[in-house]
Amino acid sequence: MTTIAKKIDALVRDVPDFPKPGIIFKDITPILQDAQVFKETIDAMANILRAENLRYVAGIESRGFVFASALATALGVGLVLLRKPGKLPWKTLKATYQLEYGTDAIEIHEDAVAQGDSVAIIDDLLATGGTATAAACLLRDAGADVKKILFAIELDFLQGRQKLIQAGFKNIESFVHY
Ligand code: AMP
Repeated sequence: MTTIAKKIDALVRDVPDFPKPGIIFKDITPILQDAQVFKETIDAMANILRAENLRYVAGIESRGFVFASALATALGVGLVLLRKPGKLPWKTLKATYQLEYGTDAIEIHEDAVAQGDSVAIIDDLLATGGTATAAACLLRDAGADVKKILFAIELDFLQGRQKLIQAGFKNIESFVHY
């Protein structure tokens, strides 16, 4: 494991049966409480993204916002919000995706990105990949060039990475793998 991965791993808290029985929730709030590790996480993400010459970082609601907004400031680029349906006030574009039972959706403002804008997508955790794949497809359909999809944590056994790759997104990186 890299240095930052070890530090994240040491702080992530497993919460069994949250939000429902059988799920082990990976709680990242102890990382945010640790000023040094939070800063090092943002620095490590910024180092990965600096070479991409981004126009925007796009954060996935809601824990993705925490990392993405700090990153936008660190990189000196704009921030795009990928939100749950009905939250954004302006005209939106929407991508719907499959859950275990039913569907969910994610939205951006229709003017959030312009044709050819370079964007990196940020979230705290990659699980089944449904959310991140919908986010990436939504940005691509809106004309953006999705350069990188970056997570603090990836649950390898749920194979979210395969879902992203199947949708044509290959530039995926996570610090800690479980
Ligand atoms: P998925 O669409 O299955 O990849 O789920 C990803 C989204 O759900 C991310 O925004 C995560 O924050 C959240 N999530 C899914 N599973 C977990 C988990 N075990 N622990 C913490 N967050 C999770």
